[in-house]
Amino acid sequence: MERVVVIAAHPDDPEFGCAGTVIKWAQAGKKITYVLLTSGDKGSHDPDLRPGRMAARREEEQRAAARDLGVEQVVFLRYPDGLLENTLELRRQLANLIRQHRPHVVMTIDPWRHYQLHPDHRAAGQAALDAIYAAREWYIFPEQLVGDVEPWRVKEVYLFWTDNADYWEDVSCCIERRISALARHASQVGLDMEKLAERIRTYAREAGREPGYEYAEAFKRFQFS
Ligand SMILES: [Zn+2]
Repeated sequence: MERVVVIAAHPDDPEFGCAGTVIKWAQAGKKITYVLLTSGDKGSHDPDLRPGRMAARREEEQRAAARDLGVEQVVFLRYPDGLLENTLELRRQLANLIRQHRPHVVMTIDPWRHYQLHPDHRAAGQAALDAIYAAREWYIFPEQLVGDVEPWRVKEVYLFWTDNADYWEDVSCCIERRISALARHASQVGLDMEKLAERIRTYAREAGREPGYEYAEAFKRFQFS
């Protein structure tokens, strides 16, 4: 289970969703790749800040956070923020990426969470799961299967921001590192990190109640044979 791909909608989603697990897995020697479907170009209410500049800033913030966590590579697909859809084109791109990177594990957003109001979060999770299905089938996007590219079967999927957790990662070791990585997203989290840090600790403490960990991250897990 050495290669992991995290597919999310916006820069900062992985840090809000699964960064403690990413820290632990990177430390254990797993090779982790982030795939961000948008660059978060609408993540500002400042009318003077153009979307292009916002995107550049957020990509930089995402790269810095990923470096802190031990992520090897960050890929941006640069779809427009706030308008993401689970199109055939996006699914094709993600299936190709999965066939190229051959991850054993994919982490993404649970698209079925009740009252998941952000359309990008729903679309990202759905597109990722549909691409995982497509990547393993010979007859879907067969034009990608050239040279030594083969269909690829992902072994495990972890959905974060879920209502139906059945797997918990003990992140007691690295909750503070996770919060520091989140602080890299200064354009989103602002300068007053203390309140947010406390919110993250509270949420992780609640997630840890069921498995009996001080701090945990909760996932819905699928395992495929
Ligand atoms: Zn997001």
